[in-house]
Amino acid sequence: MTDLERIRHSAAHVLATAVLRLWPEAQFAAGPPVENGFYYDLELPHRISPEDFEKIEAEMKKEIKANHVFEKMVVTREQALKDAESGRLGGLSERPGNPSKFKIGNLADIPEGEQITYYKNGDFMDLCAGPHVMRTGNIGAFKLTHVASAYYKGDEKNPQLQRVYGTAFKNKTEMEAYFTMLEEGKKRDHRKIGQEMGLFAMDPDYTGPGLPLWLPKGGAIIEELEKLAKETEFAAGYVRVKTPHLAKEKMYLTSGHLPVLYAESMYPPMKLSLEGKDKAERKQRLENAKQNFEQKLEIFLNLTDIDKLKAEGFSPEQIKSRIKDAHHDSRISEEELSEAKREYAGNAYYLKAMNCPHHHRIFAAEPRSYRDLPLRLAEYGTCYRLEQEGELFGLMRVRSLNMNDAHIYCTPEQFASEFNAVNEMYLKYFKIFGIEKYIMRFSTHDPSRLTGENAKFVNEPELWKQTEDFVRKVLIESKIPYVEVPNEAAFYGPKIDVQVWSVIGREFTLATNQVDFAVPRKFGLVYKDRDNTEKTPLCIHRAPLGTHERFIGFLIEHYAGNFPLWLAPEQVRVLTIGDDEPLVAYAKGIVQELRGSMVRAEGDYGTDKINGKIQRAEEAKVHTMLVIGPRDMQAGAVSVRLHGKGNVGAKAKGEVVAEILAAIKERRA
Ligand SMILES: [Zn+2]
Ligand SMILES: [Zn+2]
Repeated sequence: MTDLERIRHSAAHVLATAVLRLWPEAQFAAGPPVENGFYYDLELPHRISPEDFEKIEAEMKKEIKANHVFEKMVVTREQALKDAESGRLGGLSERPGNPSKFKIGNLADIPEGEQITYYKNGDFMDLCAGPHVMRTGNIGAFKLTHVASAYYKGDEKNPQLQRVYGTAFKNKTEMEAYFTMLEEGKKRDHRKIGQEMGLFAMDPDYTGPGLPLWLPKGGAIIEELEKLAKETEFAAGYVRVKTPHLAKEKMYLTSGHLPVLYAESMYPPMKLSLEGKDKAERKQRLENAKQNFEQKLEIFLNLTDIDKLKAEGFSPEQIKSRIKDAHHDSRISEEELSEAKREYAGNAYYLKAMNCPHHHRIFAAEPRSYRDLPLRLAEYGTCYRLEQEGELFGLMRVRSLNMNDAHIYCTPEQFASEFNAVNEMYLKYFKIFGIEKYIMRFSTHDPSRLTGENAKFVNEPELWKQTEDFVRKVLIESKIPYVEVPNEAAFYGPKIDVQVWSVIGREFTLATNQVDFAVPRKFGLVYKDRDNTEKTPLCIHRAPLGTHERFIGFLIEHYAGNFPLWLAPEQVRVLTIGDDEPLVAYAKGIVQELRGSMVRAEGDYGTDKINGKIQRAEEAKVHTMLVIGPRDMQAGAVSVRLHGKGNVGAKAKGEVVAEILAAIKERRA
């Protein structure tokens, strides 16, 4: 947890304390920090509404003023159960007849063998893994924001709870800045501006919820971003690939996303039944697999007659190894049998929820040598994720995602320089987009959880250490601001989430970088090393520009829709003063010239007054307006107007065109 998350999570405990002062019967479930704040889920006959906030906040203030220590206690499971039964957990005191039912449920989720801890502030004692700030007084500023409802553990079969949201900060100044930013953010809401500018449309009835349709003007922004990515990646030695939007079940069974890990986030499969030759072939394969399995099993079972083996003169060591081998063979043939059964049942195709498995198959499509590495496969790949309908939000949370994806396959020796190059790419992009505030959230593993019952990370202690050390070193040397978050890495390697702030100070998580040293092995990816042995490459997943959806949503807010020339959906509009034929012909000539150089230029040649034309262009946020009257035409000139800035004077036509082309080429801010 970051410092701010500690403050926020601590504020959740203080919220619970305050609610209990007012309603001692309240029952609490979970109270984690979330993006921009915290919540606590509670059950209470009284429906909490914003009218209650003032009195709850008054109680919270008392608790903060008392400056209670957050005291950590380690307890046994028996003790915890006893305290939950007595109503003490998530309470201010014992509450006979009102056991802490949700805490009992939470306790059951803590794996056997894991430490059970309480945190106590004043009278309030809670089951919690922490961490917390030292004292309640460390919560500098807080505010309750809204109430929603949520099911216990997110499962609709469970009771519905009240979710009280709030936010907390180090001090008042930071909190005030946050609320000012929210106000400004409303004006810059990407859904509102996106609709006004005609960038994208949502069409839940026909296309489906969370599947944005990019209109021509949004399409123009996409084209520019992809052009930027392609140029940047090409210069950095990437190669481009293209993969289908779907794949067979086997792909995701191999990657480990199926059968369980990621199943809920994927669209259900399309089932294709088998026909003709295919069916006959697979039937045969199934028969063979059955026979093979029976044979292997028989061999294994025969070996268990140890006395017989001894009599035949085998040593105990030999017997052991023969049994082991036979067991292994029978297991393999059992797996083959279940695969043959699955294949005979038909083909299930899934829409891809990530591009990595496809790229892994591209790696596997040709024999690879150490000379081919690093291999950097890039693709703007479209993924589909079945986000819950209630959580869909404009472009920020969608079900189809165009991802600025690439996978870098490299040797452990190449890792540091590859990782560094990825970071430099981020910095380059930040500069182009005027992103001044950013931070990298570096999630690392917990060395105590590589093996055993609580294992959470792949058991590669050397690789963890090596890659984490490299990442840390690169982050420190490049002076990129970062925070290190222990125990939050992906199971297959350390991970970096990149957070950026828009000009008005709102935080966005744009992209995730991950190091992967497990999945390439699952796919059996190998390269021939110098010494002619086969080795598994490391894989870096990276997506500096995130997805088009999220990144353009961010950019709309960042620029308030006033895109720089190179990104503006309509870059130039030529406006004529009047509609005299020669004048219109001159204007059309300029539009043609610009379009011939790939500039998104349009013309407004109608009879209406020039002020009306200018107003329309301003409303459409056209970046550059070229106003042309008879005098301009005679002088071979144009009057230039910039969106939001007004008239910047008349210049020779050739000069203006050259300037426009240069500004676009250099991607000037
Ligand atoms: Zn806690
Ligand atoms: Zn990936």
